[in-house]
Amino acid sequence: MKPKTELQRRAIALSAKLHPITDKQRQWGIDHIFKQTGFLRKKTTWCGECGHIWKSDNSLLKNTIVDITCPHCGKQLKLTKCDKKEHVDRWYYSIYDKAEGFQVIRHFVASKACSVGEYPIIDVNECVQNWISPQGKVVNIARKTQMAGYCYDLWIYSSDMEVRGTPSVEAKYDIDSAYIYPGKKFIPELKRNGFTGALYGVSPRRIMSAVLSNPMAETLLKAGQISLLKRCVNYPKDIAKYWPSIKICIRNNYPVKDASIYLDYLGFLEYFGKDLRNAKYVCHTNLMKEHDRLSNKKHRIEEKKREEEKLKRALENEKKFKKLKARFFGIVFSDEVISVKVLESIQEYIEEGKLMHHCVGHSEYYLKPDTLVMTAIAGDKHVATIEFSLKTFEIIQLRGPANSISKFHDRIMELVNQNTNLIRRRLRSSKEAA
Ligand SMILES: [Zn+2]
Ligand SMILES: [Zn+2]
Repeated sequence: MKPKTELQRRAIALSAKLHPITDKQRQWGIDHIFKQTGFLRKKTTWCGECGHIWKSDNSLLKNTIVDITCPHCGKQLKLTKCDKKEHVDRWYYSIYDKAEGFQVIRHFVASKACSVGEYPIIDVNECVQNWISPQGKVVNIARKTQMAGYCYDLWIYSSDMEVRGTPSVEAKYDIDSAYIYPGKKFIPELKRNGFTGALYGVSPRRIMSAVLSNPMAETLLKAGQISLLKRCVNYPKDIAKYWPSIKICIRNNYPVKDASIYLDYLGFLEYFGKDLRNAKYVCHTNLMKEHDRLSNKKHRIEEKKREEEKLKRALENEKKFKKLKARFFGIVFSDEVISVKVLESIQEYIEEGKLMHHCVGHSEYYLKPDTLVMTAIAGDKHVATIEFSLKTFEIIQLRGPANSISKFHDRIMELVNQNTNLIRRRLRSSKEAA
C-alpha cells in the first residue's frame, strides 16, 4: 500500500536506506538457531550437513538418544526422526536497530533446507520491519504473503517491502522471535523510559510502543511492577481504571504478583464502597485471603439479589395469573372415581408438573390467556393433567404421568365434556361483569 501519513512516508524512505543484514548478524543467527542434525529413517540415517546416507537399523530406541558422528563429513549430529528425504527448519530471527530517531525492529526468517545427497541450503530473509516513533506510533513495513489456508506468514521474498495496513491476524507483523541478535540498539527515549530490552513474554513491538506511548506503562516498568505492566501493554484500560490505587501501590513499594487477582480485588473494594485511595485497603498484607473473602461475600450478595429478583417476578406472575384465571377458581366436578379441579395458583402448577413429571409448571402454561389447566384426581392420586381451550371449549391435551396416556383417559374426557357448561358460565359472567 502507498504510504498515507507523514510518519509512513518517512519510515518507508528510511527503510530503503537501511543496510542489508551484515555477514556477522547472519552468521550469529545461523550458529544459534540451527543444530547439526542427522535424520533417522526406518533403515537408513542421513546427514543434514553433507547429505550422506548410510544403512542402519533404527528400530533400536538408543539410536535416537545418543549423538553420532557422520562417517562422511565427520560432523557431530543430533538425531531426529524424519521419514522424508528432505527436511526444512524455519525460525524467526530479529535484530533491534535504530534509524533517524526511529526504533526499528527487523524480523527475518532463517531457514535451513536439508535433503539426501545435498549440502543444506541456508537462507536468512527479511520479512517485516516495525518502525516505532519516539511517541510509540508504529508503522509496519513488510513483504507480501502467499494465501494458503490458515497460514498467514508465507512471505514472498521477491515482493517489495511496503507499508502494510492492519492485518487480519495481528501476530502477522507482531513477531515475537525466539532469537534476537545480541547487538541491540535502542533509541534514547526507550532507555529514558526504563526499557533495557527485557520483553516479559510480550512481543517487542507491543512493549516498546507501550513504554513510549503510555506513561502508565513507563511508570510500571520503572517500578518493577511487571505483572501490571503486562496487563497495561495488552489491556491499557484495565490499568487506567484503577490508576490512582496502583500509584499508591507503587508509592508503598507494594509488589503486585498477579495483576488479575489484584484488579479483581480492587473491583471488590469498589463494589463494597471502600476507599480506593487508602493504603490499608489498596496494599492489603494478605491479598489472596482478602480477595477470596470479598469474592465470596459479593457472590452471596449477588445470589441473594437474584433470588429476590426471582421472587419479585414470581409475585408479578401470580398477579397476572390471578387476573387471568381467578374467575375459574372453585370449579370442581366428579363422578364416582375421578374428581377434576382447576389449578388455582402457580404453586399448584409447579407441584402438578413435579407430581406428573411433565412441563405444566412452565410459565407458557399458567400465563396462557386462552386455556385452563385442570388436574384429575383418583382417591388422593393425581392421574392426569388437562389443558382445556377457552376458545373452542375442547380438551387440547390430556396427559397422564410423564406424558403417558392416562388409564382414565376416556372417563376423564367424558367427565370434562359433560361439565363444559360450568366453565362456559364463569367465562360469560366475568365478561358481563366487565
Ligand atoms: Zn555428513
Ligand atoms: Zn522432516
